[in-house]
Amino acid sequence: MKNQPLSGNAMPRFGGIASMMRLPVVHSARGLDAAFIGVPLDIGTSHRPGARFGPRQIRAESCLLRPYNMATGAAPFDTLQVADLGDVPINTYSLDKSLPIITEFYEEVLANDCTPLTMGGDHTIALPILRAIAAKYGPVAMVHVDAHADVNDDMFGERIAHGTPFRRAVEENLLSCHKVFQIGLRGTGYASDDFDWPRAQGFTVIPAHEVWYQSLAPTMARIRESIGQTPCYLSFDIDGIDPAYAGGTGTPEIGGLSVPQALEIIRGCFGLNIVGCDLVEVSPPYDLSGNTALLGANLLFEMLCVLPGVVRR
Ligand code: MN
Ligand code: MN
Repeated sequence: MKNQPLSGNAMPRFGGIASMMRLPVVHSARGLDAAFIGVPLDIGTSHRPGARFGPRQIRAESCLLRPYNMATGAAPFDTLQVADLGDVPINTYSLDKSLPIITEFYEEVLANDCTPLTMGGDHTIALPILRAIAAKYGPVAMVHVDAHADVNDDMFGERIAHGTPFRRAVEENLLSCHKVFQIGLRGTGYASDDFDWPRAQGFTVIPAHEVWYQSLAPTMARIRESIGQTPCYLSFDIDGIDPAYAGGTGTPEIGGLSVPQALEIIRGCFGLNIVGCDLVEVSPPYDLSGNTALLGANLLFEMLCVLPGVVRR
């Protein structure tokens, strides 16, 4: 029997130590097929801080999650050995020092053939994670949900920040650029051509307003066809979803994706060769209801449910 989330009938859901999905907390990826990992870093944030508290709050809200996906039939704990690997001990005074700490942590996870499911943290963390992923798999495809393209050349003169990770990833050849899809982009920009740089690299940009009121299932079918079995990273910034549903975040933008659209995106990744996922930018100090963290916890479960090797009953 593989690790199972602790049942609400074995211990009340509000009781016990808060691990992701009430799974065992372990200190090594050895023997795991997938692991939830927290990266409590928010020193790359440009506006409202607080994402450092994201992993802890996502774990707290995840206590309500049950092991079986009623919509898709996915039963991830039947075939995958999953645990909570705790948090990466970043250096909260230094981005420069934190990035290699994160990369080395993920290299160790990947060396054990364990797929990381990351709880952010701000979006800066996607860069050191992608460095570890690409070191194993080469340049990867990516499904990137976000209000922002995160391809700034610099922010306040800094090349490492939460708005620059995918510019650096392109420069470092971590991405298979013609297999990168950015969904949900919107908001005001510095120039009308802000989204042209990613397009010039070969990314496909799907702005939020082009998919308002629409199912994203057909879009995801096209994305699956395009990416095929190329190893694929899923990076999900919670601000891709409308602030009506996910206002507890650092840089909210109006007119975003709905929660059902977010579910269609993640469920539409089933069949891809997903080699890592993240859910970033949940900021509990701005999430007074806890709904944003609750949403984040559910989306991480949905990511687990589309990993290779998951069976559907
Ligand atoms: Mn982002
Ligand atoms: Mn964003």
